[in-house]
Amino acid sequence: MTYSNEKTIKKKKRKAPQKECPECKSMVHARVSFCRECNHTFYIKKDVEQDLLAKNWRDLKAGDIIKVITGSGSYFLSKHNKNPDGSPLRIGMGHKGKFEVVEIVDQGSRSCGIVGRQLYTRGRRANVTEYIYMGEKYYNEDMIMHNEPHRIKVIKKLNRELPDA
Ligand SMILES: [Zn+2]
Repeated sequence: MTYSNEKTIKKKKRKAPQKECPECKSMVHARVSFCRECNHTFYIKKDVEQDLLAKNWRDLKAGDIIKVITGSGSYFLSKHNKNPDGSPLRIGMGHKGKFEVVEIVDQGSRSCGIVGRQLYTRGRRANVTEYIYMGEKYYNEDMIMHNEPHRIKVIKKLNRELPDA
C-alpha cells in the first residue's frame, strides 16, 4: 500500500463527528455551541452569558439546568462557634449543585425563587423538589436567619431565546 492510499483510508474512517440541529435539521459539527443556519443554541459557552442568564432567572423554563454556587443562599450565624478571626461561624442553609428547573415562583421580593429537582451524577435526579430562594437579602429575627439569594449559573437552556443584553 502506498502512503497516499493509506491517507485516504484514514480520512474515510475519521469523519468529523456531527449532530443534527433540532430546529432546522441541518447537520453541524458535534462541538459547536450554536447552529450557524438558524442560531439555535446547543449549549451556553461563555461565563458572561451564564451570568446574564442567571440575572434573568425569572425567564428560566421547566427543564432548564442551573448550578447553584456552593456557599450561597441563606445562613445562620453560630452563637457558639467562631472563625479564627473571632467573627461568628456561618452555617449555610443554602442549596448547592445542579438542579433541573421545575417552576419559577414570583410572589414578591421575599417570596420568589426557583423550584428545582437536584441532579446527581449519571443523570439521576431527586424525586423531591427543592426551593431555591432568589429573593432579596434580609434578616429574619424570629428565625435568626440571614436570608440571601442563591448565586446560580445557567448550565443549559432548552429554548434558545437569550435575554436582551
Ligand atoms: Zn439550526
